[in-house]
Amino acid sequence: MPRCYIGLGSNLSDPQRQLNAALTAIDSISGTRLLRCSSFYCSAPVGPGEQPDYINAVAEIETVLPPHGLLDQLQAIEAGQGREREIRWGARTLDLDILLFGEKILDTERLHVPHPRMAERNFVLLPLAELAPALVLPTGESLAALLQRCPPNRLEKL
Ligand code: ATP
Ligand code: MG
Ligand code: MG
Repeated sequence: MPRCYIGLGSNLSDPQRQLNAALTAIDSISGTRLLRCSSFYCSAPVGPGEQPDYINAVAEIETVLPPHGLLDQLQAIEAGQGREREIRWGARTLDLDILLFGEKILDTERLHVPHPRMAERNFVLLPLAELAPALVLPTGESLAALLQRCPPNRLEKL
């Protein structure tokens, strides 16, 4: 079964509770198991306008689902936790992004894997490095190299 990494983020309606609920929901997806989760981090918002800080984490899962099937399930969990899509990168109760899906490289209309913006996000790379410090992406780049190049935005481990 491929190892997958999911990026979790929330900055509305008790973000820590949102992440904990999402982890339980992910573990309940049929054919899917939550293996580990990183620490929770508090990060500065990068989206438009004034927004509360985010809580972020990365979860390691294994799944028998195909990538788009997993995306469907993650989007259902987002919707179930009140995610609304109004402003791009606006405040949200829950964001679940597929960062990596085993060794797959996907460029479809609905799904880009590895996640195209993970390299510029320390709130993704640092929690991922907690789980898999020696990780090499399917593109051949090492996580350590991405971390060295990543912009240093405000980030605090909780
Ligand atoms: P960002 O992708 O920059 O983190 P976002 O997470 O706020 O932004 P969303 O509104 O959650 O963006 O998702 C917009 C669309 O991105 C989704 O409808 C989904 O089809 C698409 N998408 C493409 N690649 C991925 C991926 N790897 N994980 C999750 N969604 C993805
Ligand atoms: Mg996102
Ligand atoms: Mg998303």
